[in-house]
Amino acid sequence: MKKLMILSLALLTGASAFGQPQRPGPPAGGAQKQEYPARMTPQMTEIMEPEVTIISPGEQPGMAPSDAIVLFDGSAGIIEREWQDSRGNPTKWILQDGALVCVKGSGVIQTKRKFNDFQLHIEWKAPAEVIGDGQGRGNSGVYLQGLYEVQVLDSYNNKTYRNGQAGSLYKQYAPLVNASRKPGEWQSYDIIYTAPRFANDTTTYFTPPRVTVLHNGVLIQNNVSLRGPTLYIGMPEYSVKKHGAEPLVLQDHGNPVAYRNIWIREL
Ligand code: MG
Repeated sequence: MKKLMILSLALLTGASAFGQPQRPGPPAGGAQKQEYPARMTPQMTEIMEPEVTIISPGEQPGMAPSDAIVLFDGSAGIIEREWQDSRGNPTKWILQDGALVCVKGSGVIQTKRKFNDFQLHIEWKAPAEVIGDGQGRGNSGVYLQGLYEVQVLDSYNNKTYRNGQAGSLYKQYAPLVNASRKPGEWQSYDIIYTAPRFANDTTTYFTPPRVTVLHNGVLIQNNVSLRGPTLYIGMPEYSVKKHGAEPLVLQDHGNPVAYRNIWIREL
């Protein structure tokens, strides 16, 4: 019994039954002295190829880097080229002082291109003249893949439900802080979006959509995991019609919210 206990202990500790550590020795019959296992050098963990792709960052923070797709640069031509209404017709949103402005009742505006994972920069401005309150004040929205709304709202001294204010993932996640500027001032969202992956049954997320948002440079959503498409009424579910790449959509909520400097990088 005592012998058996010693043997068990030896196996557990890696020692031989004679108390010597068991290490693999050099190959049998080899005259050369070889260190085993091979000793690590710094170079063994340094990856040289392929080289990381070189791009040019924007000249100023918030400006498009060289590998971005510019979706709006203040010109009329780009609206026609990149945007349409939900039926595929030219949008009725207007170009005003270099900004793309929502026209009440004109419906959403959406990109002609479709996207999966991306980094998006978008700037927006609630009307300087404050009309209405709560959800009725400077309301629009950035719909990621046309399904998941990052709320645009004048949330400067404007009380509403916390999971519906500016920078919320509407009715799912309140922003971590309220980083709103005054109405009439330009604000920015930088959004990093990972599209959902679907399980085989086609109605269940294998991995849900994930979203990070910076509002005026401040982190307000930290890689949150969505429960489903944005709903006004009811609880979102991890159950959704399977989708692939989808357009970016801007909401018409009846307020003349303006947009400018919109660019996106596919990831
Ligand atoms: Mg909205």
